[in-house]
Amino acid sequence: MIQTSLSQLIVIYLLMLLVGTFGVWLLRDTLRRLREKRNSRNHFVCRICGVSFVCRDKQSLVKCPACDSLNERSDCREI
Ligand SMILES: [Zn+2]
Repeated sequence: MIQTSLSQLIVIYLLMLLVGTFGVWLLRDTLRRLREKRNSRNHFVCRICGVSFVCRDKQSLVKCPACDSLNERSDCREI
């Protein structure tokens, strides 16, 4: 049987709690960054009229819903 003192058990418990909290924080932060990156690819600001809009098409030319001008995907500014 392993003999430990109460103070060692408390330290082990606190370390496990700290590692678990850090792991959950790291996982949630990584998922949040991935979600923001995925969403930012679909948000655009029209370079003609400045309207921001969402376009989920994979086409290279994105049509502005306000002024119907075509914006190149690579030229569109991300929000
Ligand atoms: Zn526009």
